[in-house]
Amino acid sequence: MTAPSLTSDSLGWRFDHSYARLPAPFFRQVAPTPVREPRMVIFNGPLASHLGLDAALADRADLFSGNALPTNAEPLAQAYAGHQYAHFTMLGDGRAILLGEQITPQGLRFDVQLKGPGLTPFSRRGDGRAALGPMLREYIISEAMHALGIPTTRSLAVVATGETVYRQEPLPGAVLTRIAASHIRVGTFEWAAARGEVELLRALTDYTLGRHFAERASADNPALALLEAVVERQASLIAQWMHVGFIHGVMNTDNMALSGETIDYGPCAFMDAYDPETVFSSIDQHGRYAYGQQAHIAQWNLARFAEALLPLLDADEERSIEVANEAVRAFQPQFQEHWLAGMRSKLGLFNAEPEDTDLMQGLLEWMRATSADYTLTFRRLSTEALPADPELQPWQQQWTARRGRQPQTLAESAALMRRSNPAVIPRNHQVEAALQAASERADLAPLHRLLEVLARPFDDSPAHLDYAQPPAPGGCSYRTFCGT
Ligand code: AMP
Ligand code: MG
Repeated sequence: MTAPSLTSDSLGWRFDHSYARLPAPFFRQVAPTPVREPRMVIFNGPLASHLGLDAALADRADLFSGNALPTNAEPLAQAYAGHQYAHFTMLGDGRAILLGEQITPQGLRFDVQLKGPGLTPFSRRGDGRAALGPMLREYIISEAMHALGIPTTRSLAVVATGETVYRQEPLPGAVLTRIAASHIRVGTFEWAAARGEVELLRALTDYTLGRHFAERASADNPALALLEAVVERQASLIAQWMHVGFIHGVMNTDNMALSGETIDYGPCAFMDAYDPETVFSSIDQHGRYAYGQQAHIAQWNLARFAEALLPLLDADEERSIEVANEAVRAFQPQFQEHWLAGMRSKLGLFNAEPEDTDLMQGLLEWMRATSADYTLTFRRLSTEALPADPELQPWQQQWTARRGRQPQTLAESAALMRRSNPAVIPRNHQVEAALQAASERADLAPLHRLLEVLARPFDDSPAHLDYAQPPAPGGCSYRTFCGT
């Protein structure tokens, strides 16, 4: 999609509204509900600058709470559906409002969305609001993911509302400004399919291709081109999550963005001790969204996406199903390839050998058996700081021999490892400590310090040492709650 020639206002706002040019059922126009006492908690200066926005916006809590609107904003809530824990539901932005698409000085297009701005026609029984802790949590984790080089929505600002929201307890309210390549989800297509109007599906397919996969927009079979492109991006994305120990926590189809960005940071967290069964979300009692399940679930979600596209894939229904199955099946080998490539870098390997998968499994099995910290193990392997363990010795010999069989030197291999294995991830105990200080004592210093460290995850300067440590033993019964 080409950027229109729009002029920006004095604060740098330069909005287009391509989503609002989709057929009317895709959205509802709705204004944010003003809040009592908006106060800027955190503003992302570097991101603002990337978007072409003026630094003076750091003082404009009115604009990031929805009390006032930027020039040319046309607020709307998007319609979508979703499989939540495998159950299909019609949803929509119940507590989010899109202000518009900011066209950056480089001509890129980003959704600017308020999360927690009050009721919309899709709020159902919810209050349309968000609490400060979870919005700061999304800010921290999304910015950490960005610094790790993983595709993600980003966070421009968090404003406290001066109002109370009621979850299990009264909490301070907040509005997050989320920046995304788009908010088109698997669930957006499921919504269009559920309406049973093939013209809606077609419009959304063309729109999504044009917005995210322009190079495929003239494909003979646009729906298939889109399906294949989305499969590829998800295979790459999920592999990247696995490489850093990220657990999304609520991979419902409404939380899978077709752009290939990580979206909807709710009960997500990074794993400390390696265990594929790790689950943090308090409501995920059967481990549906456990660390080791994520590739399987992504493929399940892609199958729902393919189902939604069936009416467009082929005029013949059976042929349509065949084509869909084939496209979805491609996920697994693609994921495996991305996973292997990333794991090779994590182990300092530049080339491929057939036994590499076994080599990786050997290390992972040792990590699981000893409850080794996932991040620290790789980092210590990179810096030759892993304490000696006789159980791991045979593996280490195998690995050393393997590194010796490539043309690169050990120093080159170690350098590759140091840029592939983060020293610092957003550790749950550090995130919680920063949120508590911000939420309960209005002390923002720990939050700023944490964000500074997470912005340079591959640095292991001594000043970062505290942040690299896993929680104290017994401190791993961490739970995140979905009442966000
Ligand atoms: P999530 O679990 O955040 O992905 O949200 C799932 C659905 O519930 C989406 O349609 C949200 O818009 C909606 N939702 C979540 N929290 C609220 C809330 N406090 N008020 C209204 N809708 C909500
Ligand atoms: Mg969601």
